[in-house]
Order: sequence, then C-alpha cells, then structure tokens
Amino acid sequence: MVDAAINHTAVEVKAPEGRPSDYFGKKVFSRAAMRKYLNKATYDALIDTMQNGTPLTRELADGIAAGMRQWALENGADHYTHWFQPLTGGTAEKHDGFVNPDGSGGVLEEFSGKLLVQQEPDASSFPNGGIRNTFEARGYSAWDPASPAFIVDTTLCIPTVFIAYTGEALDYKVPLLRSLTAVGQAATEVCRYFDKNVQRVTCFLGWEQEYFLVDESLWAGRPDLMLTGRTLMGHESAKNQQLEDHYFGAIPTRVMAFMKDLEYECLMLGIPVKTRHNEVAPNQFELAPVYEEANLANDHNQLLMTIMDKIARRHRFRVLLHEKPFKGINGSGKHNNWSLGTDTGVNLLSPGKTASENLQFITFLVNAITAVYKYNGLLKASIMSATNAHRLGANEAPPAIISTFLGTQVSAVLDKLAASKGDDAIRFDAKNVFKMSGISHIPTLLLDNTDRNRTSPFAFTGNRFEFRAVGSSDNCAEAMIVLNAAIAHELTLFKEQVDAKIEAGAKKEKAIYEVLKQMIKSCTAVRFDGNGYSDEWKAEAKKRCLDCESSTPLVFDRYLDKAAQQMFAATGVFNEVELEARAEVKWETYTKKIQIEGRVLGDLAMNHIVPIASKYEAMLLDKVFKMTQINRGLNTAPDIELIKKIQDHTAEIQRLTGEMIEARKKANPIEQARAKAIAYHDTVEIFFEEIRRHIDKLEEIVDDQMWPLPKYRELLFLR
Ligand code: ADP
Ligand code: MG
Repeated sequence: MVDAAINHTAVEVKAPEGRPSDYFGKKVFSRAAMRKYLNKATYDALIDTMQNGTPLTRELADGIAAGMRQWALENGADHYTHWFQPLTGGTAEKHDGFVNPDGSGGVLEEFSGKLLVQQEPDASSFPNGGIRNTFEARGYSAWDPASPAFIVDTTLCIPTVFIAYTGEALDYKVPLLRSLTAVGQAATEVCRYFDKNVQRVTCFLGWEQEYFLVDESLWAGRPDLMLTGRTLMGHESAKNQQLEDHYFGAIPTRVMAFMKDLEYECLMLGIPVKTRHNEVAPNQFELAPVYEEANLANDHNQLLMTIMDKIARRHRFRVLLHEKPFKGINGSGKHNNWSLGTDTGVNLLSPGKTASENLQFITFLVNAITAVYKYNGLLKASIMSATNAHRLGANEAPPAIISTFLGTQVSAVLDKLAASKGDDAIRFDAKNVFKMSGISHIPTLLLDNTDRNRTSPFAFTGNRFEFRAVGSSDNCAEAMIVLNAAIAHELTLFKEQVDAKIEAGAKKEKAIYEVLKQMIKSCTAVRFDGNGYSDEWKAEAKKRCLDCESSTPLVFDRYLDKAAQQMFAATGVFNEVELEARAEVKWETYTKKIQIEGRVLGDLAMNHIVPIASKYEAMLLDKVFKMTQINRGLNTAPDIELIKKIQDHTAEIQRLTGEMIEARKKANPIEQARAKAIAYHDTVEIFFEEIRRHIDKLEEIVDDQMWPLPKYRELLFLR
C-alpha cells in the first residue's frame, strides 16, 4: 500500500568531467596545492611538520594561513571552521566567515595563522565526563597539520584536535595521535633488530563501511528510525536474505546513482574510494577505500559518514549507519584493516621472502596477538556501545568474545616455533612452511587470501589484521587507540626481554626466538580458528578465561582495570582522569540511548499501535455483532478468536509499557553514571523485546490498510 507512493526513479547525476585522476583531491589543500600557494621555505617547513612533527612558528603559520585562504577563496569557500571529533561520535564544526570590516565601510577576506592554529570553541556542552565543569568550560581546538584541510560546500574545514583548558583530551583524535606515536616508536625500536635503516614506522588503516539505505518517504513514516536509527518493531518480511540474492548482486539503479554521486564527492575530497557492492542483507551496501595512514584514514571515515548522509538525502534516501537497524537480518559493521609499515617500504605484517624477513614478520604478529590476548576485554570495550551491542552477544549475533584467527599456515608456523627445542629454531625457515605441497605454483598471496574465517572478530588476512567487530557507526579511532596502545606496550616489553637476554650473552636471533616462543605459548587461549558464532565456542572461551561479559555497561569497566590504566599510562595514551572521563561518557551515552529507545517504543506502542489495533478490534466486534443480529447461523468463531488475540496482545503491551515506564522512573534519579547505566541495562532494556513481540504479532493480524507504520517488506526492497 505505502509502497505505491514511492518514486523509484533514480535522481539524475551529472557525470563528472574528466577522469578520477583529474578531479581527485580537488577540494583538498593537498601537497600540490601547498606547493602552488606557499613559498618554498613555508612549504618545506610544513612538510617537515607533517612528516616529523616539528613545531611550526607563528610566522610560518601566518604564511600557511595566507596560502590556505587564497586557495580556499579561489575554490569557492567563504567560511572556515575547525573540524573536530568530540565524544558524541560525530564531527563538530562552527563556521566563521572570512570577511572582516576593513575600517572604511568595506570588508576584506582575512584568515591569520592564529585562527588557523588554535581556537576556543564555546563548546561547554560536548560530552566530557566531568572534565570540564561549566565554570571552567574552556576547550581548545588546535590544528592537526598531518591531516590536510578540505572544502565542504563553501566551508574550509581544518582538522583539529579538541582539548580541555587543563590539557586533557576531549576528542578521539588526541588519543589516536598519541597511540600512533607510541606504536610507531615502539615498532621502530623493534625493527632495528632486523634493519638499522628503519627510521619510522607508520600505522595503516583500511576501513570497510557497511550501511543500509531506505527510501526517505518511508523513513519519515517510522519515528523509531528517525529518532533511534533502528526499527524498534516490525514483523519479518516473508522474503529476507534467505535466497542470498542480494550479496554482490546487481546494484539497483537508484542506489547506483547515489553511489556514483558519493564516490565523486569522496574522490574530490581526497578519499580514495575503491570498492562498492551489495552486502548480505536487502538494502545493505558497502563502501571501502584504499587504506591510508591511520589518522588520515580515520578523518576520511568521519568525513564519509557525514557526506553519505548529505548525498543520501539528495537521492531521497536516508542512510542508516546503525549496527542493527532491522531485526532478523544482518547488521552492519565497519571492518578495520590494520597494519604497520616501515619507511623502508616493508609491511611488518606481511610474510617476507627471506628467513630474516619472516622472523621480523613473526615478531610483529606474535606481539600483536599477545596484545589482543592480554587486552581482549578492553578491545571489546573499545567497540561496545548501546548500538553495537546488537551485533555483539545479542540475539542472532556472534558472542561478545574477542579471539583471533590466524589461518592454518600461520598457525602451523607458530606451533612449530613454540615446540622447537634448543638451536632448532635458528635453523627453522619459515619460508618453507608458507608453501603448500602440490600447489606451489600458486603465489603465496593467493593462498593467504583463500584462508579466511568470516566469523572471527579479529582475523589475520595475509598481510594485515582485520578487526571485524567494530560497529558501523563507530569512530574507528576508539578501536585503533586501544589496539595501537596495547601493541606499543607489548613491543616495548618484548624489547626489554630480548635486550636482557642479549645483555646476558645470548645471540640476538636466539634471544628473539626464545622470547617469542614464550609469548606464543602464553597467548594460545586467544587463538581460535573454529566457528566463532557457535555455542560451543562460548563455553570453550569461558574455559580459556577470555572475557565473556556481554552486558554493555559492565564491559566498559575494562577501561578502568589496573592493567589497562598502567598500559595507557606507560604508552602516554590516556591518563587516569581521561580514562575515568571516557568511561563516564560511555555510561552516560549508553543510558541516554536506551532512554530514548524506551520513550520512542512507549510512545509508538501507546499512540500508534494500541489505538489502531483497538480500532480494528472494534470493527471486528461490530461485524460479529451484526452477524449474530441477522441470526442466520453465520460462523463468528474465527473473528472472535482474532478479537481475543488482539485483546491479549494489546493488554500485554499496555502492561509491559507501564512497567517499563516505572523502571525508567526508578532508574532516572540514580546519580552515579555506571549504576544508572546498569539499571537501564538490567531493568529497562529487558522490556524492549517483549513489547516488540506483541506488536509484531498484531502487525500480522491488523488490516494492512490500517497499520500505521511502513513494514519491513516495504522498507527493505529498493528497486
Ligand atoms: P574484504 O571485504 O575481502 O575484506 P575489501 O577489499 O573490501 O576486502 O577491503 C579490504 C580493505 O583492506 C581495503 O580498505 C584495503 O585497502 C585494506 N587493506 C589492504 N591491505 C592493507 C594493509 N596492508 N593495511 C591496512 N589495510 C589494508
Ligand atoms: Mg573485510
């Protein structure tokens, strides 16, 4: 019924002029633009800052600002903004015009180094976990020269960090940058065992963004989608993803027009988008760029999420980044492909050609999985949220357990190494193990790629790790901060142990082997190559003492564990105040999201569903009454059955909604953020599924013409 109202025709998109290589980065103050708009000395200094973190002087900043302004004005910008990533999960911007009175009745376009480098957003209302009390509400945004400025619409956006007056991080970028420094330094030190020429190690991130699209007019008819990002009710469509006909299927024309538009915009903004395809669920899609340095990659993902939303609207769609917008079909994730590379061009997570290169590879691999083992609970906390909880440990989702999959070849190498005795290991040549007998003509890379496990939350995929449990709406930084900090810490401990052995007289290689052997043996619990979705794994993981907690507020406790605090302090990524503030924000955000869902569910149940069901019930009653009035032996039994069912379900909805409201009333006065979040988890959220079940039953009974909400079958099948 509703479907008839949808306009399925694609929005006309003007094809971009030229090839992607012509317009790539057109809206970015890229190196090419810098070279053109800055003088040589300023350009060199800026590159030095970007690459080596050398501080910029105010004069240089003035020179850069002048060049940037010139470029921005020539490219249609009239405003500028510091663009930052507060703990809301989104991005924040406050636009200022370039114009300034010139003192004689006119205006001039102005932009100084001071405005470029630092601003003071009047932003006392961002989540801060108590770090900034309103009487000391000052926060600073400060330019991050490592991520180039760009233009969106007519605004020059300057990527910045966001810190409190007292120095604590209030955003995702500060700790991300700290963690990247930590892992870069620790990894460089370890690399020097193998190659003295290594000066710098860079962390790379390649994200894959999954999302749903729904028609805008249908979306507007679903207050739950509008206000919570997911459907809080809705009976399963008769046809879902059973036929597996959506994944990699032909992309609907209307969606294709959207994708082309989005890709064009991304390329203009310097986001190297590469892959697009249909995902498993109906209306679900994926977009992935080529991986980049992690800080830039993360800015690009944040930017992508914003422009996706904007372009979707242009195409009369709404993009859903929620991890589980629809019950009963796949949810959306954001795989984070992670690796480390040296300035000598070596991917440290890629098997090499020589025994020495392979020892280096194994060193980094083992350090990574040891970190994942030691901080598996914390890694889970880094990706846990009210929304991602639907993918982690809830119904129809993998369990909330972090394990790692290495594949048969790599597993065999590690097991062989751990089992080797004496000098054995030194003769051990990993090169042979990477070849598989009989099919040696197939390049190693192909072999690696076929050995995949799609159920592992943290899988080794041949030349990188893929952290798959990250949520589709997450800021990737959160996961990357924990991962990089933990690995940095592990690499430092590893080096201390190796150095101690060398000092005690051991040869370097032997010392490395010995320490690795020990590490491999102690982290076996985290290695799991089987089906991560199975119930057996849940039981097995518990035996292995992996973190199996699935209550979201309790998972956040991991940030405040002694070991986590020490690790974050040692790597300089978070101090105690910052950690407490972050946990506080997580609990608060959780509570608010559940509170909003509870309210929306209650409103919909009482104002939309129950009245309509009652109306239909009244119609049936009227019918039955008239049937008995004419007294011709008509069969009223089936209708009476239906009436009873409607009565039962509406009565239950009313009762449960009332109880849920009572539970909220009890939870609301709780002052402590953690206790309140727990109350919301344990006493409020538990009603959602039950209430929904009754509503979904009514959806099956009530006249389709009367049903007040667009149904799954209408929402989910774009043509
Ligand atoms: P799949 O869906 O099979 O995992 P995709 O091609 O969709 O593969 O995505 C793979 C992602 O991994 C891309 O973003 C790609 O750029 C990224 N990637 C590839 N190699 C590396 C690497 N060494 N480090 C980080 N990311 C990488
Ligand atoms: Mg992937």
